[in-house]
Amino acid sequence: MFPTDSKIQYQLAIPNPEYHEFTIEMTVPAHSSESVMLTLPAWIPGSYMIRDFAKSIVTFDVQSLDGNNTVAWHKADKQTWAIESHGNAFTVLYTVYANDLSIRSAFINHEYAFINGTSAFLQIEGSDETPCELTVIKPNTLNPLIETSLPMSIDSDSLWQFTSTNYDDLIDHPLFVGESLSQSFWVDGIEFVLLFSGTTPVDIERVTKDLIPICEHHLSLFGKPYPVTRYVFMTLLSESGYGGLEHMSSTALLYPRYDLPLMGESDEKSDGYITFLSLCSHELFHTWHVKRIKPAIMVTPDLSQETYTNQLWIYEGFYELLR
Ligand SMILES: [Zn+2]
Repeated sequence: MFPTDSKIQYQLAIPNPEYHEFTIEMTVPAHSSESVMLTLPAWIPGSYMIRDFAKSIVTFDVQSLDGNNTVAWHKADKQTWAIESHGNAFTVLYTVYANDLSIRSAFINHEYAFINGTSAFLQIEGSDETPCELTVIKPNTLNPLIETSLPMSIDSDSLWQFTSTNYDDLIDHPLFVGESLSQSFWVDGIEFVLLFSGTTPVDIERVTKDLIPICEHHLSLFGKPYPVTRYVFMTLLSESGYGGLEHMSSTALLYPRYDLPLMGESDEKSDGYITFLSLCSHELFHTWHVKRIKPAIMVTPDLSQETYTNQLWIYEGFYELLR
């Protein structure tokens, strides 16, 4: 469909965090087909329910690459757009509403933006193996700091740039931009990044100290070669709520801020804190078990519709057996 040296480009911007919105400018190179089908996943791997992420796309427009002409398109179904491109390169401009504090989709407030690729990046049907390039414009009104397990290739005054081998890789590294508390620690040569959203004074040294034996255990259990060189615990702090979602080299967590140890508190481990460490352990375990050890149907799953398996019990239940 595309020449071998082609890439799909996505430019993400957060011009107005107060609107809980981000924008994407997607550039599709010249191709051999008359039309192009663009689709957004209906579910995110690791959370096995139809979520209909496309409902959050609130504006959509297609232009020729030079911006001088509108390109015809129509909606083919709830999550698919058919572009009448006639083989020419084109640009898609769309806006996504991001106000779901669940770690499954995307959330933007006055402090930070958290974005899963499954909520952000349209997929081109039939070009699953084309490399992707992501540019994130540094925001004016959020703290211009970014964290993701996607390898960064450019960090300039105005933008960050990342590359990925294909679409499935692009969508398996959630992005965090804005205010956070974070630090790195190393276990047997692997860099682990611990991040908490916002400005809550979490005792990050203490959490780091308690996470190290968990990381050591999992690395030792599965052995070398390790599947990651850098791993991010990306924690969104909330008033209430609980969740964790595994990714290739990171996890996104949602946790109540006052169940974590704060600076100046006693060393006693509350039930809430023990549960947080357990959640971190569970999600890190998925780096092997589920992200890399999985049934064939889940290696490149069909994200456009339900993908059935009778093995979910061992994805999540196996953990219960270990407790
Ligand atoms: Zn799990």
